[in-house]
Amino acid sequence: MSNPDPSKMKQDCPEKNECLKMLQLILDGEANSEQKENFLKNHLEECMPCYKNYHLEVAIRQLLKTKCCKDAPQELVDDIKTKVIKNLAS
Ligand SMILES: [Zn+2]
Repeated sequence: MSNPDPSKMKQDCPEKNECLKMLQLILDGEANSEQKENFLKNHLEECMPCYKNYHLEVAIRQLLKTKCCKDAPQELVDDIKTKVIKNLAS
């Protein structure tokens, strides 16, 4: 994935909830290749909140995979989210 220019990206997503659902589908491996391509190549490149959400979800999934089992306590997930958001903001 290329590195989008943040100044040219939308700061607000009009379909955030839809995007979030699509993002989960993709990360769960349930989206078809057309959906994937559309979302990753077209939408993420220009949509700041979804771009951040995507990387957040990826980071969380990776952490959960390496650090512990699937049933991670919610506090841990929240903790990871907070840290990742901080990283993205800096
Ligand atoms: Zn979006």
